[in-house]
Amino acid sequence: MRMKLFSRFSRKRSPNFSPSTFQKDNTNDSTSENSGHMISSWMETPVSKRPLRKKHLSRSYDENLMDDYLDKQLGNSPRKRFRTKKELEKETEKEAMIALSLGFPIDALLEEEIKAKVVSELDGKEQNDYIVVRNHILSRWRANVHAWLSKGEIKETVSNEFNHLLHSAYDFLLFNGYINFGVSPTFKPQMPEESTEGSVIIIGAGLAGLAAARQLLSFGFKVIVLEGRNRPGGRVYTQKMGQGHNGNYAAVDLGGSVITGIHANPLGVLARQLSIPLHKVRDKCPLYDPEGKPVGKETDSKVEFIFNRLLDKVTEFRQIMGESCGDISLGSVLEKLTKLYAVATSVEEKQLLDWHFANLEYANAGPLSDLSAAYWDQDDPYEMGGDHCFLAGGNWRLIEALCEGVPIFYEKIVKTIRYGENGVEVITSDQTFQGDIVLCTVPLGVLKKKMISFVPELPERKLEAIERLGFGLLNKVAMVFPYVFWGEDVDTFGCLNRNSENRGEFFLFYSYHTVSGGSVLVALVAGEAAKSFESTHPSTLLHRVLNVLKGIYGPKGIEVPNPIQSICTKWGNDPLSCGSYSHVRVHSSGSDYDILAENVANRLFFAGEATNRQHPATMHGAYLSGLREASCIYRVRQTINNNSNDDNNNNINNNNKQNNPKKSIRRIIGVSDTLVNLFKNPDFSFGNFLFVFDPSNEDDQSTGLMMVAIDNDDDDDDKVKVKVNNGQSQRAVKLYTMVTRVQARDLVAVVGGGERGLSYMSENLGLKLMGMDCFALVANSLISNIATRRSRVRNRVVFGNRVSYT
Ligand SMILES: Cc1cc2nc3c(=O)[nH]c(=O)nc-3n(C[C@H](O)[C@H](O)[C@H](O)COP(=O)(O)OP(=O)(O)OC[C@H]3O[C@@H](n4cnc5c(N)ncnc54)[C@H](O)[C@@H]3O)c2cc1C
Repeated sequence: MRMKLFSRFSRKRSPNFSPSTFQKDNTNDSTSENSGHMISSWMETPVSKRPLRKKHLSRSYDENLMDDYLDKQLGNSPRKRFRTKKELEKETEKEAMIALSLGFPIDALLEEEIKAKVVSELDGKEQNDYIVVRNHILSRWRANVHAWLSKGEIKETVSNEFNHLLHSAYDFLLFNGYINFGVSPTFKPQMPEESTEGSVIIIGAGLAGLAAARQLLSFGFKVIVLEGRNRPGGRVYTQKMGQGHNGNYAAVDLGGSVITGIHANPLGVLARQLSIPLHKVRDKCPLYDPEGKPVGKETDSKVEFIFNRLLDKVTEFRQIMGESCGDISLGSVLEKLTKLYAVATSVEEKQLLDWHFANLEYANAGPLSDLSAAYWDQDDPYEMGGDHCFLAGGNWRLIEALCEGVPIFYEKIVKTIRYGENGVEVITSDQTFQGDIVLCTVPLGVLKKKMISFVPELPERKLEAIERLGFGLLNKVAMVFPYVFWGEDVDTFGCLNRNSENRGEFFLFYSYHTVSGGSVLVALVAGEAAKSFESTHPSTLLHRVLNVLKGIYGPKGIEVPNPIQSICTKWGNDPLSCGSYSHVRVHSSGSDYDILAENVANRLFFAGEATNRQHPATMHGAYLSGLREASCIYRVRQTINNNSNDDNNNNINNNNKQNNPKKSIRRIIGVSDTLVNLFKNPDFSFGNFLFVFDPSNEDDQSTGLMMVAIDNDDDDDDKVKVKVNNGQSQRAVKLYTMVTRVQARDLVAVVGGGERGLSYMSENLGLKLMGMDCFALVANSLISNIATRRSRVRNRVVFGNRVSYT
C-alpha cells in the first residue's frame, strides 16, 4: 500500500548536485573532511516541499458532496445545444478538467483509445471533437454515479452531427470500465437477461475477481467465481471484534484498510454509490522514542529533511548509474548515502531515520534490501490525488456490495488450470469446471509458490516475471480496548525502535475509533520484523505491543487497559495469499507488472494488484485490474465474433483465426453438469432407474447416485413411462436421490421398475426424489467424489455389467 502521509512524496531534486561530485565523494569515507563539506552544502540546498503531516481542520469527508459539487459545476440540466458559445466553452473547459483528474489527457487520446480506433484519423478535427464528447460523457457520469448513464441521455446534450463520436466515446468508456461501473442498485435493470458472450471462470473473489465478475456479467458473459476461502474479499478482510457493553462489535480491517487518494479512485465511486461516509486520515502523527518520550520537533523536522534528501540523492544516483542501477537495492544505496553524507549520526537521529525507513518498508511490503533502487517508486506518477480515507464500518461493506448477484463457489481451492484451443478446465480438489475463458486473480505469492499447475506451463517470460517481482509482508496486531485512552485527535502515531533490525516492529499505530464502531488500535509490523512476527507466539507479541503503549502513556499518567480482544495477522503463512502485497524487487522493474497482466492464448487472463503497473499493492489497483481484464475479455470475444461473421461471409482472416479460439459458447460445467455426465455412463440401469457408484468402494452401505427418468407427457400422464440410459424423450423429467448399493440391489429385485419401483422406493426404502438443482446442492461433494474416482478408473465391472469409462 502506498502511503503519502510522510515525506518521501515531497522530495525535490537538488540543483547543486553534479555527477562528478558524487563520483568523487562516493569513494570517500563519511568521516573525511571533504564529506563534511559536502554535507553542509547538501543540507543547505533549498528544498520547497509539502509540509510534513500537515494539520487539517476538516475531519470527515463526505463523498456525496462530490455529486453536489460536480452538479453545480456542470449546471443542472446541461442541454448543450441551447447554450451560448461562451457558456459551452466554459463548460467544455470544466469537463476537460474533470477528465484530466480522472487520468485522461486534456488534448490527446489515451493509448487504449488509439488502439480501440475511436476516431478514423488521429490528430485532426475529428479527434478534437471526440475528446470534447468523451470528456462530456465522463463528467456526466461522475456527476451522478448512482444512475446508469445511457446513450439516450447524452444524445440530448450533444448535437446530432457528432452522433458517430458519441457512439464511439460512449462504447469505449462503457466497455473499458470508465463509466457505469460499480454497485449502484439502480444498475440492475441494465443487466442482460441472457448471457450470450461465452463463459468465464474467475479464480479468486478478491477485489479484482469481483470487479471483473460484475463487469463481465453486465457485458453478457456467463460467470462463476471459484474462491478457495469460505469468504469473499481476499486481502480485504474486515473482522468483527470485541463485542462491547452495547452488544455491538467493532469492524476491523486486517488486510487492506486505507483508501489511498480519494480523487478518481474507483473505490470512492463505490462508497458514493453506497452512501458510505469516509473519514479522512488526519496528517497529525506524533512520534515517540523507544522510552516513550515524544520526539522533539526540531529533531523530527531535521531527520525528516535528511530522509527526503537521501531519497532525492537516490533519484540522482540512478540517473547517473542508468541501467546498472537495476541490480542494486534501495537499502544499500541509502546506507551508503547515509554514511557518505555522515547524516543522522546521533542515536536519536539514527532511530528516527530508521523509523522513516520502516515507513518505506511498510509502503512497499518489503525490506529496503529487497527493493530495486532503480524502480521501487515507478508507480509514483500515477498516484491517486486527494485525501487518504478510512471507510466507515470497514472495507467489507464494499466487498459485500460487490458480491451481490455474483455466483461464487466457496472453498474451491484451484489446483490445476488447463487451457487450450477448445476452452479451459479448472480443477479443484473435488470438482472440475469447464468454460471458454479463465481469469486468474490469485495473489502473486500464490503464483510464486506454484500452488496452481498450469497446463500447458505458462510462457517463460511470465514465469520469469513472477520470479523477479517481489511479494512482501506487512502484518498487524489489531486490538479492541474498552475505551479510547490514546486521545481522539489523532488517527496515527509512531514509535521508534532501539535497533535497526526490528525498526518495523509496531512502528506505526492506526486508530480506527472514528470508523470501526469500537476503540480500536492497530499496530503495524513491517520490514524484517514482519517475518519473525509470524513465528512468534501471539501472547508474546501482545505483551510487547502493550509494553510499547505503556511506555508512551504511562508517563502521561494514562493507564493502558488490557484489550477486550486482539488478533495478530499472518499474511505470509496464509496459503491463499503467501504474503501481503507486491513490490519492485532488485532485478525487477515496472514492466514485470505488465508481463504478469498479459493473457495467454486468449484463454487464460490475469488480474490482481500485482498485474497493475500504475497502481500496484493497492485495493483500487486490484479493482481497476479486474475492470481492465473484463474489457480485454470482452474485446477478445468481439474479435472472435467478428471473425466468425467474416467466416460466414467467406472472408477468413487466417492470422486472426490462429490467434483466437473458435467461438464456442460453452456452458460452465459445475456440479449439475457433472451429474448429467455421470449418468451418460451409468454403472447399471434397469427400467427407468439408473445408478452410479464410487468405483473404489464396494461396500454394501456405500452411497451412490440414482436417477429416475419420468415421462412428462401431458397426453399420457397417468402412466409413468420407462426411459432407458439415453433417455430418448425430451420431455422426460429426471429426478435424483442418494442410494446405497444394498438399496439399489433391493430395487433391482422389484421387477420392471416403473411405477412399482417408484412406490417400493418411497414406501419400503424411504428414499425421496429431488430435482437436479436441489440434488446438486445436497449431494455436491458425493457427486464430485464419484466423478473424480471414476476419472481415475478406466474399466470396472459392476453388477455383472461391464462399463467402460473414457
Ligand atoms: C496487511 C495488508 C494491509 C494492506 N493495506 C492496504 C491499504 O491500506 N490500502 C490499500 O489500498 N491496499 C492495502 N493492501 C493491499 C490490498 O489489500 C490488496 O492489494 C488487494 O486487496 C488485492 O486484491 P486482489 O483481488 O488482487 O487479491 P486478493 O484480495 O488476494 O484476492 C485473491 C483471491 O484469490 C483467492 N485464492 C488464492 N489462491 C486460490 C486458489 N488456489 N484457488 C481459489 N482461490 C484462490 C484468495 O483466497 C483471494 O480471495 C493491504 C494488504 C495487506 C495484506
